[in-house]
Amino acid sequence: MLLGVARERIDGERRVAATPETVKQLAGLGLDVVIESGAGLAAGHSDDDYRNAGAAVVPSLETGSLDVYAHVRPLEPATAAALCRGAVTVGLASPSSELPTVRALAAAGVTSFALELVPRISRAQSMDALSSQALVAGYRCVLEAAIRLPRFFPLYMTAAGTVPPARVLVLGAGVAGLQAIGTAKRLGARVSANDIRPASADEVASMGGTFIKLDLETAEASGGYARELSADRGALQRRLLAPHVALADVLITTAAVPGRPAPLLVSRDMVQGMRPGSVVIDLAAESGGNVEGSVPGEDLQVPTADGQGYVTLVGLKDPASAMPSDASRLYAKNVANLLALMVRDGTVAPDFGDDVVAGACLTHGGEVRHGPTAEALA
Ligand code: NAD
Repeated sequence: MLLGVARERIDGERRVAATPETVKQLAGLGLDVVIESGAGLAAGHSDDDYRNAGAAVVPSLETGSLDVYAHVRPLEPATAAALCRGAVTVGLASPSSELPTVRALAAAGVTSFALELVPRISRAQSMDALSSQALVAGYRCVLEAAIRLPRFFPLYMTAAGTVPPARVLVLGAGVAGLQAIGTAKRLGARVSANDIRPASADEVASMGGTFIKLDLETAEASGGYARELSADRGALQRRLLAPHVALADVLITTAAVPGRPAPLLVSRDMVQGMRPGSVVIDLAAESGGNVEGSVPGEDLQVPTADGQGYVTLVGLKDPASAMPSDASRLYAKNVANLLALMVRDGTVAPDFGDDVVAGACLTHGGEVRHGPTAEALA
């Protein structure tokens, strides 16, 4: 079977769905790999690297001739429609927001697998692109904060005086938040964090952070995810968080609730209550924002309540694409590992009796197999 990898077309997307390492893995499964020229350049892989790994390199990918299409960003509806009946796609699909593409995939008779739908179970960890890309995002957002903060993260005791460590507050301690905590700790900051899942207190402590316990019940739904708080509880959470936010030099927000807009954890008043020079990084800016007023891809200067200066409010956009080399290294492994689960004798033959395969399948045989997406399309 012929597996193709295209140059990602979306502006600012620098990741690639296969690396020379995974080309070898895919070839070992019996797949022939063809890659569009330049697809891996931003991630540090030249066309020759891919040729040496055993791939064919073409100036422009003919998607209609592919049996398998591996991608990073969701396909355009026209790309989906051009795939041949029975083709298999693997990549991020954003099913809740890219309904026209889902419709086109189903209409074209494509068997599509959405990496967002891979069940978050131990057996599927090596295919979990949400986790691998959240790891990159969590690391990156701390560096984005550090570079904007007009002071050090670590404690310095020097002949010229002592510099106290920066105080970093992380709200939302899932995969990205825990990476942010670990990264800020490694840079020497004093780190505290809050989350509403019961397990999060121990997880924060295991990364070296101090858990902030609020007088608020925990809220967990199935699968270990958070449940959305009611409007009243959300307002209470913001009130309880306000004094902690006011003390932070850096605030990083990463909170999310599956299938819902990001919860609002920080109001504009809370941002204005921070000290001049403080930095806020909203990792959820693209999904509605944890911080009132954050704009994806923009740095805003918010005047402080005391009129003495500004807080820098950053709506972080595409943080994983900003580190294309390691983000692609991990992402491409997720893609190859999911395919490895389905390939027999050089042919992709999904076993829908397997929870991981069935869970990750978005469309098959002309139908939308993912229940919530099928409902949204009905
Ligand atoms: P996510 O991106 O959906 O959410 C990020 C964090 O925001 C979560 O920790 C969530 O509890 C938190 N949050 C939501 N509302 C909040 C609020 N009002 N205030 C504060 N925090 C709030 O989550 P994720 O990073 O994808 O991870 C979710 C869960 O899945 C975690 O329990 C994680 O350990 C688990 N997980 C399991 C596996 C596996 O077993 N393979 C892999 C990855 C994640």
